[in-house]
Amino acid sequence: MKVLVLGGGVAGVSTAWYLAKSGHEVTVIERSNSVADETSFANAGMLSYGYTNPWAAPGVPLQAMKWMMQDLAPILVSSSSFNVRTASWMMQMLGQCTEEAYNLNKRRMLSISEYSRTCLDDLTKELPLDFDHRTKGTIELFRDQEKMNSIEPDLASLRDCGVEHEVISHAECIQHEPALANVSEKFIGGLRFPQDGTGDCKKFTIDLAEHCRAAGVQFMLDTEIHSLEASSGKITAVYTSAGVLTADAYVVCLGSYSPLLVNPVGFKLPIYPIKGYSLTLPLLDESKAPQSTVMDEAFKVAVTRFDDRIRVGGTAEIAHFDLSLKEKRRKPAEFVVNDLFPGAGDLNNATFWCGLRPMTPDSAPIIGKTPISNLYMNTGHGTLGWTMSQGSARLVADLINNKTPDIESEGLSVFRYLK
Ligand SMILES: Cc1cc2nc3c(=O)[nH]c(=O)nc-3n(C[C@H](O)[C@H](O)[C@H](O)COP(=O)(O)OP(=O)(O)OC[C@H]3O[C@@H](n4cnc5c(N)ncnc54)[C@H](O)[C@@H]3O)c2cc1C
Repeated sequence: MKVLVLGGGVAGVSTAWYLAKSGHEVTVIERSNSVADETSFANAGMLSYGYTNPWAAPGVPLQAMKWMMQDLAPILVSSSSFNVRTASWMMQMLGQCTEEAYNLNKRRMLSISEYSRTCLDDLTKELPLDFDHRTKGTIELFRDQEKMNSIEPDLASLRDCGVEHEVISHAECIQHEPALANVSEKFIGGLRFPQDGTGDCKKFTIDLAEHCRAAGVQFMLDTEIHSLEASSGKITAVYTSAGVLTADAYVVCLGSYSPLLVNPVGFKLPIYPIKGYSLTLPLLDESKAPQSTVMDEAFKVAVTRFDDRIRVGGTAEIAHFDLSLKEKRRKPAEFVVNDLFPGAGDLNNATFWCGLRPMTPDSAPIIGKTPISNLYMNTGHGTLGWTMSQGSARLVADLINNKTPDIESEGLSVFRYLK
């Protein structure tokens, strides 16, 4: 079958891989001159299979208001870009802030995340991929006892979902992350996910694209997709800057831009761009650096170790499609890396970046079939698109192949929003 994969981020390239492996003739269409040039470019690098939480949770509306008053606020709303679409998406998200919705969404996210771990394990056995991969876990670090006590309900749902985790003492945090001994007064303990990993999503995607090419996948780079054409419940053409393209099946992997192309063909994708920032520091002193990911719970900033770099990521800014780099947003990342790992990286030569997380109101991705028979989705992965990339791609490929997927997929499809 001839398949067009729309978008060349980690979701699109991974989808192309699994489809090519199952014998399809695959073309990836990407507007940039490289794959992984947008949100998959410099994310925080966490493969956080266990540290997987929906944003919409009971208590979040109040917490968000408190955060917005803080100097190093993890959540910001830019009033200049607030519009009807923003308001509607936020209302949908607020509707997910109940105990019941949170538990359901968390289960769905954990299921696809855990599956992704297995799929990435399989893939790294199959291909010699170079992406600074480490498998040393994530520590969610707590600065005060009150916050650490408040994780009890989360522990229950982790136990229910069978996610390996351990509540660790101050000394155990240092045992796993020895550099934290230099700042031992800053934290009191942590929650550790030993199965989590880290890796550079951009390096991975570029490397996997090379394997895709070797497997016969065509890449149409520098090609803007203008619109989709639908007729009698099927996609009949894709209009691009390189002409009109047709195929037997089409997979939308356009990240935050997915609704712009899908909504006009008849159903609404509730995906909104949530801007985030990262800093990448050259490694200065190994002994002062993290070994894996340390997530500073108080500031919602992740500090992740690559081979010779440190990546610091965080901030959720509601700013529509504005991709301007706001210098003052460096502050939370600079503060946390300096506070927890002083002297580890070279802040003077750090690279500052921002990207748009393709967020759904319930935080779970949108994967699988749609009301249009030959149109499939692999998008809306929000904060965890790197973590979920391999499971999501294998899942959508199985659905296209009419194969029963390894995990329950119904709750991840767009139909949950079309009732
Ligand atoms: C600051 C930050 C930190 C993050 N940290 C983590 C993390 O630690 N772990 C994790 O798992 N996830 C993380 N994420 C989320 C993760 O990066 C994303 O979920 C993931 O990269 C989304 O991949 P994607 O392929 O769906 O989208 P993208 O990478 O954005 O790919 C979509 C592609 O579609 C192309 N495209 C769009 N419109 C068109 C068009 N009209 N024509 C042609 N091409 C088009 C774009 O150019 C782009 O290449 C983070 C995100 C941010 C912003």
